[in-house]
Amino acid sequence: MINRRLLILDDELLTAQTIRSIAEFASFDVQLTTSPEEFFQILENWQPHFVAIDLIMPGMDGLEVMAELARRQCRSRIIITSGVGNRVLDAAGRSASEHGLNIGGVLPKPFTPASLRALLVDQLPEKQDPELKSTPGPQEPMPDRSEIGIAELHQALLRNELFVMYQPKIVCQSGMLAGFEALVRWHHPRLGELAPDLFIPLAENNGLIDALTNEVFRQSLDWFSEFCSDTRSGLSPDDSRQDLSRLTLSINISALSLTNQELFEGLIKLCRSKNIEPQRLIFELTETSAMEDPVLSLDLLTRLRMKGFRLSIDDFGTGFSSMLQLVRLPFSEVKVDKSFVITARDSEESRAVIKSIVDLSHSLGLQTIAEGIETEESLSYLKTIGCDLAQGYFIARPMLAEQVNAWLLHQEPVQEVQRQTGLYDVQILDISREIRFRRLMRLARRLFDIPAAVISLVDRDHQWFKSGSGFNMQGLPDDMTFCNHAIISDEVLIVEDASVDQRFARNPLVTKEPHIRFYAGCPLQAMDGNRIGLLCLIDRVARSFSAADISILSELSRLVEYELAARAVDINDPQTQLLNQQGFEIRVPIVLTLCRHRPLVCVLLLFQLESVPDNENDSDIQNASPNTQAVEFAALLQNSFRGSDFIARLADDRFAALLIGANEEHGKLALKRLTARLAAHAQANARGERIAFRLGISESDPEQEEDLSFLLARAERRLHESKVTYPGTEISMEQHV
Ligand code: C2E
Ligand code: CA
Ligand code: CA
Repeated sequence: MINRRLLILDDELLTAQTIRSIAEFASFDVQLTTSPEEFFQILENWQPHFVAIDLIMPGMDGLEVMAELARRQCRSRIIITSGVGNRVLDAAGRSASEHGLNIGGVLPKPFTPASLRALLVDQLPEKQDPELKSTPGPQEPMPDRSEIGIAELHQALLRNELFVMYQPKIVCQSGMLAGFEALVRWHHPRLGELAPDLFIPLAENNGLIDALTNEVFRQSLDWFSEFCSDTRSGLSPDDSRQDLSRLTLSINISALSLTNQELFEGLIKLCRSKNIEPQRLIFELTETSAMEDPVLSLDLLTRLRMKGFRLSIDDFGTGFSSMLQLVRLPFSEVKVDKSFVITARDSEESRAVIKSIVDLSHSLGLQTIAEGIETEESLSYLKTIGCDLAQGYFIARPMLAEQVNAWLLHQEPVQEVQRQTGLYDVQILDISREIRFRRLMRLARRLFDIPAAVISLVDRDHQWFKSGSGFNMQGLPDDMTFCNHAIISDEVLIVEDASVDQRFARNPLVTKEPHIRFYAGCPLQAMDGNRIGLLCLIDRVARSFSAADISILSELSRLVEYELAARAVDINDPQTQLLNQQGFEIRVPIVLTLCRHRPLVCVLLLFQLESVPDNENDSDIQNASPNTQAVEFAALLQNSFRGSDFIARLADDRFAALLIGANEEHGKLALKRLTARLAAHAQANARGERIAFRLGISESDPEQEEDLSFLLARAERRLHESKVTYPGTEISMEQHV
């Protein structure tokens, strides 16, 4: 095996030698120099895989060296080192990436051997599948732009020398394939495979760009329509894990093409003839490009959007007019520039930029994708900040059409593992989610008056019963035949009487404990469309299940899907672990609709914490700090209401509880429990801290279309009219209604 080559340029000999020892230890061949002139000589003759450059040197600074490297179209991986602040290093890294240099990372001095090793070893090209490697290595020097003439490019279009490679995009959370980006290449008869940066500008400046784009449309749609039609993909059509009909194809569009209506009319026809829905195509525009003729491009882009095509703003974060573009043009996706993503591991600033782009896009309702994911760390960082999609060498390099199937088949088991880890992440480790599931299962039992409701999560080999309510789920065997049938069915599976159903009559679940007679299972989907489990209702007696029951069960399943998708931070109040206002306002309207269908009465209780007035005769009694008070009150509420009730902290000192299927009796009982707990709490509290509150109650009339805001407004009015309740005072329903 040939050793990798590293060339170091640093004016501090000691640093250079340290870098050399670390690299040699990792089996690198190393040369070092303190002179920029010598550096460029070695670079030309030795073609190193990596170069490490100090940013600040007497005589020539690192930025100039980098500008020269860009001029020479250097393909080596560049590691920037320096004692300057992180911010400067990051800026240098980004500027180098923008110049088309291949930035391997930044290394602030002083550095540890481990951090340098990570930059060198983690990025060794051997780690990637050599077959999928598309960019030329440093051994093959890149041709110069000046070597290529326009006549040749013209010929290339006629002789079919241009071809398209496809780079996969995946869903961050699940690892599932989301689609591909089409990236053009030129198979040059003399110079070999050429990257687009070498000839796109030529095409743009000589009126050939539309012909080039058209060629990319033609080739990529041909491939895409065939790939998605199952036959070539080698995947069975009923494999719900890889729904090919949802995949998207991203195509880069030059700004100059945005004035060419004919080009897009041709594309629309092509889509129609290939049976590709416009929603599956995403046009990527760089943020500066869309600005060039603002009026014309806005016009064409809006029309394309209206036809259903999607628009992505590419390289976001590098241009000057990012924000303006985002608001002005009808984008559906934001693509975070790779210069931030590549440097994310080492740069806090890059991470901050990525996170704010993701948040901004989400607040505008746009999907986000990050490109340039080269390491596992950057993928998991993107996951934690909620980025939707990911693309980069760590996932896959751009590949030939013929390589895609093999890649995908190889990928499947990996995705399965990720999906399982994903399930473990959300289900088992997240206690608050567990509580939320349990609440829904209790609600299911109330709505259907059924002894057992279960959420079961399934993958190819396993099944987990989560948050059952009713039977002891521990007793159920892993192979739950009913769920196996339900998961492959398109609709809700209903087995009204298992003992007379051929599929189940002899099943041990039916003939022995738990003696299942009735089963209803509704499929659950994750955000990415994956089917991940079932919401099941189980009874030991045969039952009938009406169309209305089915629609209630489906509605309830949507609520479970919410819980599966929601991140605890977004819907929970971090101090009390109750729902926060957002969590409450998303869930309760669905619950109210469900209750109207049944019909069930709901009661909304609104609590406003009050401070206890100073009482000079009773000076030991004091107010607890507002936060402690809220946390303690939250605990009192949780212990006083039923598990199926929805309790939330709407503001610092404001709480709400929605009691489901509550009659007056139930409300009275709950308030009694609260009074008793309040008194016990005051007594147990050595410092004599007391919690006081006002209460307003609003009861829903299932015959009326009363929504949450109506119930809240009525409770609010009553709350203002009510007296303050102290520990020891009886709370009565009548007083607050
Ligand atoms: P782009 O649209 O930003 O495309 C992403 C580029 O990043 C691709 O380079 C891709 O190979 C590279 N890339 C992907 N993952 C990683 C990664 O993890 N690390 C690093 N360092 N790079 C990664 P490529 O294929 O050389 O394309 C360069 C540019 O050429 C594209 O940048 C795009 O602007 C342009 N281009 C490519 N195909 C077309 C086309 O059909 N039409 C037009 N107008 N422009 C195209
Ligand atoms: Ca792109
Ligand atoms: Ca890009």
